[in-house]
Formats: sequence, C-alpha cells, structure tokens
Amino acid sequence: MQLEDVKIYEYDAVIVGAGLAGLAAAKELSEAGKKVAVITKLHPLRSHSGAAQGGINAALGEDDSTELHEFDTVKGSDYLGDQDAIELMCSKAPETIRWAERMGAIFSRDDEGKIARRPFGGQSKPRACYASDRTGLTLLQTMYEQAFRAGIEVFDEWYCADVLYKDGKAKGVVAYDLRTSKPAIFNAKVTMFATGGYGRAYSINSNAHANTGDALSIFARRGLPLEDMEFVQFHPSGLGGSGILISEAARGEGGRLFNSEGERFMEKYAPNALELASRDVVSRAIMEEIRQGRGVGPNKDAVYIDLTHLPKETILTKLPELRELAITFLGQDMLKEPIMIAATAHYSMGGIPVNKRCQVRQSPTEFVEGLYAAGECSCVSVHGANRLGANSLLEAIFFGRVAGESMLKDLESIELAPADKSEAADTIAKIEKIRTNNGDERVPALRAELQHSMTMDAGVFRTEESLARQKEKLNEIYNRYQNIRIDDKSNTFNTDLQEAIELGHIIDFSLFIVDCALARKESRGAHFREDYPTRDDENFLKHTYAKFSGDYELELSYGDVVLGKFEPQERKY
Ligand SMILES: Cc1cc2nc3c(=O)[nH]c(=O)nc-3n(C[C@H](O)[C@H](O)[C@H](O)COP(=O)(O)OP(=O)(O)OC[C@H]3O[C@@H](n4cnc5c(N)ncnc54)[C@H](O)[C@@H]3O)c2cc1C
Repeated sequence: MQLEDVKIYEYDAVIVGAGLAGLAAAKELSEAGKKVAVITKLHPLRSHSGAAQGGINAALGEDDSTELHEFDTVKGSDYLGDQDAIELMCSKAPETIRWAERMGAIFSRDDEGKIARRPFGGQSKPRACYASDRTGLTLLQTMYEQAFRAGIEVFDEWYCADVLYKDGKAKGVVAYDLRTSKPAIFNAKVTMFATGGYGRAYSINSNAHANTGDALSIFARRGLPLEDMEFVQFHPSGLGGSGILISEAARGEGGRLFNSEGERFMEKYAPNALELASRDVVSRAIMEEIRQGRGVGPNKDAVYIDLTHLPKETILTKLPELRELAITFLGQDMLKEPIMIAATAHYSMGGIPVNKRCQVRQSPTEFVEGLYAAGECSCVSVHGANRLGANSLLEAIFFGRVAGESMLKDLESIELAPADKSEAADTIAKIEKIRTNNGDERVPALRAELQHSMTMDAGVFRTEESLARQKEKLNEIYNRYQNIRIDDKSNTFNTDLQEAIELGHIIDFSLFIVDCALARKESRGAHFREDYPTRDDENFLKHTYAKFSGDYELELSYGDVVLGKFEPQERKY
C-alpha cells in the first residue's frame, strides 16, 4: 500500500455500511439527486441485517398503541433509554412498516390478510411484524433494490480504515480495496457510519464474522467518545456450543425452557411472563441454571427449549430456518425433540453517541460537523440498558432514514473541504506496519484468548474481580498485539491483514466495555454485577461516556438520561 497510489473520490455523501441503516440513508439521499458512495467490506446483501429472523416492531394491532410500545421499550431499557428518542421511534413505527411494505417488502399475513404479528419478550402485545423467519433478509433485499434503483454507487469489498476528522469536522474516510489493497480517500461533504454491531468480542456469539466494531475503534482513536459501552446484550437462545441464533420467535411461538431435571425453570424467575420475560432476565436464568449444575448436554452447558407441543404446521411455516439450523449444527429436529440452547452475545446497546438527528457527538453537548451514525453502531439510546427483541430492525430503518434526511438538510450549508493524499499517510503507515511486522504472536490465537476471556469475565455475570482481571488481560493482549506476524504479505484479497486490523479494533473497544462495566457499580438491564445486584437510580441513572486519554487508557464521564412521562419503577416480568 503506497501513498502515491491513493486515489481521491469526491461525493456529496459517503456512507460506510450497507446494512439496513446505511442503505435507508443512501436511498433518501440518492433519490434527492445527491451523489452517494456506499462503502462496505461485504456485499450489501451479506450485511448482518440479513440474518435477522424474528421480526420488526410496530403497534399495528387494534388493541395496541404506540404509547404502549413506548412504555415497553422504556421499561425494557431499565429506564436508561432516552424517552424523547424512544417516543419518536415508536410513534413512527407503523409508518415505517408501511413504508417498507410499499417499497416491496413482503410480510407474512394473518387470517384476515393483515400484516401478521408475533409476541416477543418484554412486549405487552404481539407486535413483531415478520416475514416468516427471514424478516431481516426480506427487508435488506428490498432496501438494497430500492437504493440501487435510486442510483447509489456501491464500493463493496472495500474496507474503511479511518475517518477524516479534525477539529470538530469530518470530510470523508480512508478506505482500501480488499481485492488489490489499493487505498483511496472518499472525500465528502457529509459522512455517515452504519457499521453494525460488535458481538465478535465474545467467543459464544450470534453475530456475523464481520461484526468487529471497526467504526467504534476508528472513532475512539480520533479522540471521540463512545456511550454506554458496558451494555452488551446476551440473547437467551444461541445453539448449544456455537451460539448461532435461535430467534426469539421460538419462544414467541410458544417454546418452553427446561433444565436437566425437567423443571420449567422460568416459573421461578419470571412467574408471569415466563419464557417471554425480557432477554436479560431469561439469559441470566439460563446461565444460573447451568451454574447450579442443572445444565444439559455433554458439557452440561446448555438448557432445552422444547417446541414439540406446537403443531407441526407452525414450525414448518413460521420457523423453518430455525429448524434447519438446529438440524445442521446440532443434529436435533425441533419437531421431534427439545434442542439445546444457551445465552449468546448478541447485540450492542452502546456505541457512537448521536442525537435524534443522528449527528455524532464530540461531547455530551457538542456535535461533529458533517458526521452522522445510525443503526447498531450508534447509541441514540432507544435501547438504554437492554434492547427489546424486534426493536433494532426498526431502529436501523427508522434512524437510517432520519440520518439520510438530516444529511440532505445539512448539505444545503456544508461545502466540500478538499482532501489531500497526505491525509491518508498515517493510516497507510499503520496498515503497512501490521503487514510487515515480524513478531511471534498470531492473530487467531490472540483473538481466541480475547474472546474467551471476555465471555468468562465480562459476560452475563460480572464482578469487580472478574472485570479487573479482564482489564489486566486486555492490557496484556494489547501489548502482545504490537508483536504480531501475519503470513500473507501479498496485496490480493489479504484476509490475514484484514483480520489483523479487525483484531486491533476489537482490542480497543473491548477496553471500553470492561472499564465502563467496572465503573458502573449497579445492575441494570444487560449489565449484571453480582457484587451490586440491584439498580441504583440515585447514583447511576445516567449515561456513561468514555474516550481514550492515553495509550490504552480511558477517561470516563457521565451524562443525563432524557426522562419523560414514564417514571422509573422496579422492573418485573
Ligand atoms: C442472528 C441475528 C438475528 C437478529 N434478529 C433480529 C430481529 O429479529 N429483529 C430485530 O429487530 N433485530 C434483530 N437483530 C439485530 C439487527 O439485525 C441488527 O441490529 C441490525 O440489522 C443492524 O443493522 P445495521 O444496518 O446497523 O448494521 P449491519 O446490517 O450489521 O451492517 C453493517 C454494515 O457495515 C459494513 N462494515 C462494517 N465495518 C466496515 C468497515 N470497516 N469498512 C467497510 N464496511 C464496513 C458491513 O459490510 C455491513 O454492510 C438480529 C441480529 C442477529 C445477529
């Protein structure tokens, strides 16, 4: 990779990420006649949005209301969600579904021919609209077709390695072509990140290999803050052993959980909602049963979900993909027998702090000019401390569109600040160092150590001791990472190089998860401290902001939660 090879492209808008959030924004801009580049390290249709199975929430039922959806979301967030953003998203949810439908997304139907809805955890009414168990794929295909038709230019298999950010302004990104390793600057008036989640920091996770949280570390290295990073959601039902997702639809359709003693243990933990309590509650119940020695399977590290009492038709028409996954990966057919599941790292509530217009914050009150984020990589804080199932496809599409509209508006006043090749010099030097380094640490082994230790010590259960141990481990891994060596030194599809860069990103943002979790001495939503098992509104009803203050060291501060009509109460299901 050479500085003289750097090509400079100029656009009105450059968007990194071609999942639902990125494509929704791109479509808005492109339809308005703006010149838009979408950069993605995968083909758009391989974005993780396409893996979403269960559904997308909207209060469409006659006995439902957007206000009830709002309440469920605030309660689900353990009162850490910002109520203004939640109100906005929930009130626009029905319109968002109709918009997606008009664009061509085909939803499953109920007997009356209306969009079918299924119950999901923590929701007081069935409101997860779905397309069989391929909801994300249906939406992603639709969005991609429409964005493509609107004229976006897609740079797929391009890796974004940095943002051009200085003194409170952004003007594009530095990226390289994965086919050839040729670098380029995408110079733009407005820049958006929609790079998805970061479940790959954990060994047992439901996420695509690409979910390595690149943007978080790219921003952090530029001195920008990240918000609420301690809140990582563990989904109750990952397939035993691998963590591949068995959607909440399985519980929504009536799946029941059993331990090795045949006990329907959710009766103890959530007597009313049972299997449909919120995700954090069910995940902890499962892991507690396993810790108490009541797990099933060869390593006793799973519990059963039983669907055999459901009509065969329900499984074959509503959960066909789930059935296939369990047959392929466990050899267990849910039509005939219970299947093994355990909690799996699934979703990141924290991320790049943004306001309701998706503008990126450089401090709790100041914004970066020309920089936006939406979808799972961002934290507009609609999920607070715990996301409700089927609320994140909604977030990605709704706030993706909002980001598009904000950029469109702001483009009226932002001029292109020209970029110079030399602005890619730093990034190229860092990548070249990784390529040519000749140390003795290997990327896969280091990554496995990191993921395993995060799962053990910064996972479903956390204590001062486990988190302090993990912080030390991360420091050790950070130092060892400076001494890596990759085998492939070539320029063509160098996946060794890409994985090494990604590991560097995982190492960086993992420190945010651990440090913020150490500082939050309470339990709230997905963040469960065994040494502080209750919620402490007096001291911790606040958002965490963290940024790098030195070499692998963080500075933490706190900001207000936007409260509203729902007063914090104890959360019971
Ligand atoms: C298995 C699974 C099932 C789920 N089921 C549901 C569900 O039923 N309902 C629900 O509401 N939510 C569900 N979720 C969550 C939801 O799917 C995601 O939160 C949402 O789709 C994220 O969309 P996004 O647009 O933010 O990111 P993604 O769809 O993850 O897209 C990220 C994009 O960023 C690109 N990218 C990342 N880094 C770089 C880089 N450095 N350079 C270039 N490009 C980059 C990728 O190529 C990709 O195009 C599920 C998640 C998983 C993992």
